[in-house]
Amino acid sequence: MSKVLVIGAGGVGSVAVHKMAMNPGIFSEIVLASRTVSKCDAIAESVKQRTGQTVKTHQIDADDVAATTALLKAEKPELVVNLALPYQDLAIMDACLNAGVDYMDTANYEPKDVAKFEYKWQWEYQDRFKEAGLMALLGSGFDPGVTSVFAMWLKKHKLKTIRTLDILDCNGGDHGQAFATNFNPEINIREVTAPARHWENGEFVETPAMGMKQEFDFEEVGPKNMYMMYHEELESLARFVPEMERARFWMTFGDEYIKHLTVLQNVGMTRIDPVMYEGREIIPLQFLKAVLPEPSSLGETTKGKTNIGDIATGEALDGSGEKTFYIKNICDHEDAYAETGNQAVSYTTGVPAMIGAAMMLTKKWRGEGVFNMEQFDPDPFMEMLNEHGLPWTVEELPAPLPF
Ligand code: NDP
Repeated sequence: MSKVLVIGAGGVGSVAVHKMAMNPGIFSEIVLASRTVSKCDAIAESVKQRTGQTVKTHQIDADDVAATTALLKAEKPELVVNLALPYQDLAIMDACLNAGVDYMDTANYEPKDVAKFEYKWQWEYQDRFKEAGLMALLGSGFDPGVTSVFAMWLKKHKLKTIRTLDILDCNGGDHGQAFATNFNPEINIREVTAPARHWENGEFVETPAMGMKQEFDFEEVGPKNMYMMYHEELESLARFVPEMERARFWMTFGDEYIKHLTVLQNVGMTRIDPVMYEGREIIPLQFLKAVLPEPSSLGETTKGKTNIGDIATGEALDGSGEKTFYIKNICDHEDAYAETGNQAVSYTTGVPAMIGAAMMLTKKWRGEGVFNMEQFDPDPFMEMLNEHGLPWTVEELPAPLPF
């Protein structure tokens, strides 16, 4: 029986709060705080209708450390689940230290003025969390999050060592719009337009954005073009699975998406430096976000499936030589919408956020300091994925990936 305070009332926050309310044995009290309190109230109303549970709401600007500290001291939750934007991570970690509360998030810190995300800034909180006897768990979404737990499950049950790892993220959903992003457009476009990086022979190798393309036939979706890009779990996987010779991340994009993004980039609409417009500074990418559809509005029309998983090749645990395994989840956009009012991209992130929080509150995952998903026993997390809407399968492939 524990009290949790969630910050951020977007698609991911909405799914996580709905799923927490469906598990009152673990989450006995839920508080939801965000910049726009009306969005918190709308989620609380939907939760009440769907589950009968009450969610308390607050307005908070999480960039304001003093205000967040005051809210935490007043509400006294056992855990803060940060589902706002990556820009708020450090401010919320500071508030947790001030108020003596555990911390969890789904995306690593990113400064607003540089399109660069890395764990460095949050790993630097290690000593402060440890000395305070507090726990911070980083990246408990799907990717990062489940993709790391999948890799550790393979290492525990199938492979003694992982030689190569490929993470394949396919969104086969169609929202019927010419161009829209499935989660926060600013974060999504910054991620996609950054140079690709993959791990090879002990170092990160950088290549041009969207420069490497492969077609892959995804189960229940069909053949899709996927592009190699940098993704944050590569950094923690390289640290905690040091024997890997190579690790790569791939994401599918349709031709229409690439065409629109190329034009937007060419005309300067994805810039994150300020430009003067009619006497005031604007950031083109933030203006673009304001004219694109809200990701949360896409749920009602999105059809199709997501298919996200890991393909790992390495020495089999049973001594039978080198083997390749594919472990994945397939999630249906319409089912996700029917259950929580949000499409599958929010669902596949919000469910693991609820599970990570459950791991911490039930003390199945416990430690003092700052932790990544790779550092804990994957089994209880994997069990909850099966029980709470993200069932997974594992199969042996006849050969490693041919590319
Ligand atoms: P949204 O943009 O839909 O929601 C973000 C929410 O945070 C909004 O309610 C927003 O408020 C609120 N917020 C923003 N700034 C502040 C602030 N200063 N103080 C308080 N609240 C604030 O994003 P998503 O729900 O799609 O994503 C949430 C998080 O999940 C992001 O960090 C994203 O990177 C991460 N993510 C992780 C994935 C994974 O697999 N690991 C996949 C997808 C997303 P307002 O409504 O006022 O704008």
